[in-house]
Amino acid sequence: MRNRSLRRALVVIGLVAAVTGVYFLGYRDGDVGEAPLAGLVPAAWAQGGRTEVSPVKARERDYYAPASEDLAPDEMRVVALGTGMPTQRPFQAAACFLVELGNGDKFLFDIGSGSAERIAAMQIPYDYLNKIFIGHLHGDHFGDLGALYVGGMISGRHLPLRIWGPSGPVPELGTKYAVEKMKEMYTWDIAGRVGITDTRGFGLEVHEFDYKGVNQVVYEENGVTIRSFPAIHAIDGPVSFTLAWNGLKFVYSSDTYPNTWFEEYARDADIVIHECFVAVPDLVKKMGFSPEAALMVGTQIHTPPEAFGKMMSTIKPRHAIAYHFFKDFDTTLEIYERIRRTYDGPLSLAEDYMVWNVTKDAIRARMAEVDDHVWGPPLATPAIVPDMADRAAVSEELGWEVGYTEFIMSGLADYRDVIEPIYKEASEVLGREFKYPEN
Ligand SMILES: [Zn+2]
Ligand SMILES: [Zn+2]
Repeated sequence: MRNRSLRRALVVIGLVAAVTGVYFLGYRDGDVGEAPLAGLVPAAWAQGGRTEVSPVKARERDYYAPASEDLAPDEMRVVALGTGMPTQRPFQAAACFLVELGNGDKFLFDIGSGSAERIAAMQIPYDYLNKIFIGHLHGDHFGDLGALYVGGMISGRHLPLRIWGPSGPVPELGTKYAVEKMKEMYTWDIAGRVGITDTRGFGLEVHEFDYKGVNQVVYEENGVTIRSFPAIHAIDGPVSFTLAWNGLKFVYSSDTYPNTWFEEYARDADIVIHECFVAVPDLVKKMGFSPEAALMVGTQIHTPPEAFGKMMSTIKPRHAIAYHFFKDFDTTLEIYERIRRTYDGPLSLAEDYMVWNVTKDAIRARMAEVDDHVWGPPLATPAIVPDMADRAAVSEELGWEVGYTEFIMSGLADYRDVIEPIYKEASEVLGREFKYPEN
């Protein structure tokens, strides 16, 4: 009798959960894939209550604190470091996602404007942040490449930056062209640091691959395979990526209109990040688009929420992640409702610092809490002591003098009396002699 009423109670809970649970599972961005009763009752229903609480001992928290958790050998961690738009706002940088693997490998997918400071907040030594996969060359997908190039070098990247990205229909529309021009843009910056700091991180490696390649392997190292296939967005050139490692599959759309390659090659994924653009009414109301431009950009160049939902219902990932909209109290529900017209599976509406831990058993979504005051992370490899003699070598290579002219030197004020003691102090504290430079 007791069993029967218990069972009846469970059936009632199950029905209620069937109606409301799917909503909560998707919307709360909480634990997924761990629900009892065949997924009908969300994990959120599990009773917590009062247990013995120590006033002096730490407890597990609901957020992810960067550099505070080991990654299991079979685990993948994905971190949203930019989920917004080409227009700037403090709350959301433009597209950037970090994938960390239990074998130690780390990959950045897109590096949109504003994302470099979010990357810094992860406190990962920069030698491990030198592999970047760019889906297309809109500024909101590679606008902070220069920030990582320079800032990462100064913060301890002693390895070249390695960049993978698509070709274009003409060389000027390819990744190689963009990266070479970026390096040219930084000519003064590079010259201005030679001989002063360890500049090995200024090395650049560009791996440009055919944007028309269909499910082509663009990277294969250390058990990790990354493939690309074409995306349809603005003009020819954009691609989407899949990353396969240790039986787990991650997919990243970058920007695209829904396409048949995505329907085919994003299947069987554990975690899929696909663009889901600002709803058309909000493009008109909040961004000042004309209705004509809003309809064009929001439904033909990008994937609107309803189409995102249809795509996820087609490829059925273990967990779907929507990004590329401004996530506010008054826009989120509109995006959510439009997605739910066509998709009822596991879902996160991404914002910056959302984190997903992925194993074969479970996918856990959390938010990261970051330190706004971070300094550089630990060095993965020791720095080389800079040598002013490097300037001569670089000058010869460039064909012009790197340094000061006599004219500029003529403006030096005499501050030796207060600066030389800093050298003496360093010599005393560190027990070796540091000489004040005579020229
Ligand atoms: Zn784009
Ligand atoms: Zn974009």
